[in-house]
Amino acid sequence: MATPIRIFDTTLRDGEQSPGASLNHEEKIEIARQLEALGVDIIEAGFPITSQGDFEAVKAIGKDLAQTTVCGLARCVDRDIERAAEALRSAYKPRIHVFCATSKIHLDHKFKKPFETIVEMSVKGVAKAKSYVDDVEFSPEDGSRTSIDDLVTITKAVIEAGATTINIPDTVGYSTPAEYGAIFRQLHERLPEIEAKGIVLSSHCHNDLGLAVANSLSAMQNGAKQIECTINGIGERAGNAALEELVMAMRTRADFYENYTTSINTKEIYKASRMVSNLTGLSVQRNKAIVGQNAFAHESGIHQDGMLKNRDTYEIMDPRSIGVPESKLVLGKLSGRHALSDRVKEMGYTIDDETLQRVYDDFKSLADRKKEVYDEDIEALLDKRLGEVRKLWELRFLRVTAGTDETAMAFVELHDSAGVVQKETAHGDGPLDAVFTAIQRITGVTVTLEEFTTRAITGGKDAQGEASVAISHHGHKVRGRGVSTDVIEAAAEAYLSAINRIKTIDAKASEQEPAAQP
Ligand code: MN
Repeated sequence: MATPIRIFDTTLRDGEQSPGASLNHEEKIEIARQLEALGVDIIEAGFPITSQGDFEAVKAIGKDLAQTTVCGLARCVDRDIERAAEALRSAYKPRIHVFCATSKIHLDHKFKKPFETIVEMSVKGVAKAKSYVDDVEFSPEDGSRTSIDDLVTITKAVIEAGATTINIPDTVGYSTPAEYGAIFRQLHERLPEIEAKGIVLSSHCHNDLGLAVANSLSAMQNGAKQIECTINGIGERAGNAALEELVMAMRTRADFYENYTTSINTKEIYKASRMVSNLTGLSVQRNKAIVGQNAFAHESGIHQDGMLKNRDTYEIMDPRSIGVPESKLVLGKLSGRHALSDRVKEMGYTIDDETLQRVYDDFKSLADRKKEVYDEDIEALLDKRLGEVRKLWELRFLRVTAGTDETAMAFVELHDSAGVVQKETAHGDGPLDAVFTAIQRITGVTVTLEEFTTRAITGGKDAQGEASVAISHHGHKVRGRGVSTDVIEAAAEAYLSAINRIKTIDAKASEQEPAAQP
C-alpha cells in the first residue's frame, strides 16, 4: 500500500514572512479555507508570540477549520509556548511546533551555548508544549547543517519528551538531494523508536539553490512522511518548496512515486495559487512550473499543431487537473493557420475559408509587431473583417505635465472608429489620475479603478513597460492591458482598452434586451 505523505502548508507562516508579503486577518482566513479545500493535512497559521495579528490569525483559523490540523510556531521559550497554546485553545486539531537552532554555526554565533544546553532547552520546550496539546512538532533549526550525531541525539531526546513529528529543516537552502535524503535514512537506521512509536519525520526545504522540491522528494524517498511547503513556493528569501510542484510531480509521475500518496485535491491548486498571488501581491513568474502563466502555453507552430492533433504530444499534464479551465494557447508569429482557425472557433465565431485567410493575413502582420496575440486582438481582427466595427476609442495624442510642487495635468486626444477626434484636458492627483479623468470625460464612461500595476517586460532603459488595470462599471469588472516604452502611455492604453471592453459589453447587453433600469 502507498504511504500517505502529510502535506504541511506554511504559506501563512514562512510564506507570509516573504519580503513584500503581508496579509490581513480576513485574507489569512480566506487562504486557510482554500487550503482546507485543497486538502492539506496541517496548516501552520502563524507564529503567535511575534504579533497580535499572528496570534489572532492562529486563533481564528484554529476555531474555523474542523478537518485540518492547525499549527502555531514557538521558540523553546515558556512565553512563546504559552502564547501558542492560548491561540490554539479552541482549535479542533491543535499542534504546537517548537524549534531550536542546533547547527554549529548557529550555536557559536547566535546562541553562544553548548549543544548539551540546546538539547535541555528543546526537551523542556517539547515537554511544556506537550502539557497543552498531544500533537507536538519539533524542529532543530538549520538541521541540514547539524552533524548527524547531534541530530540523532536531539531527535532521541525530544521523542522521549513527547514530540510526535520531527522536522529537519534545510533552513538556508544549502543541502543537495542525496545529502538531504541521507539524513532521513540515517535517522531511521539509528533510531528504531521512530518506526516503533510511529514518529513522523518531516522535510522543510528552502529554494536558495532551486533544490527545494528535489530535496523534499529525496527526503520522502528516504522515509520522511510529512513535507512542509507553501503555495507558489513563497517564503523567506528564495522561498520554500512549492506545494503545487511537489504534488504534481508525485501525481504526474505516479508510475515512479507509486509508493506515496497525498490527500491533495489537485483541482483546487490553480485557485489557491491565484488567491495567494492576489492577496499577498507576490506575483507568480510567467514560466513558473505548474501555475505560471506560460506553464501550459505552447508557442512554436510545430508544438501547436501537435497539440491540436493530440495533447499528449507536448503536454505531460492536463491543465484541468489543477483547475485551469483550459490550456491557454498563446498565438505568436510562429502559429499556423490551423491554430488560428481553432482559436476562432473556440471564441464562438463561424467564418468561411476566405474570411479566415484574410484574418490570418492580418494576424501575421500583427504578430510581427506583437509577440503574443491575445483573444482580444483576434476579436478585433475578426470584427474588422466581419464588418461589425464597434465604436471604439483609440489614443491619438497624450501630453502630461507633473512635478513635486504642481498639480498634474493631462491633455488627451482620442479618436473613435469613425475617425472623429475629441480632446480633453484634466487635472488630477498625479499624472495617471489626470490621464484617466480626461479619458473618462471623452468617452463618457464613468468607472472605478480597482487595480493598477505596471511591470517591465524587458530590461534596460528602453524597456517595454506593461500596465494592467482593472476597472468596475455597474458591477462589471473588466481588465485592460497596455504596452509601451512610456509607462504613462501604457497606462492610458490599458485604461482605454478596459473602457472599450465595457462599451462592448454594454453594446451586447442592449442588443439582447432593453435596459430595465437606467
Ligand atoms: Mn523556513
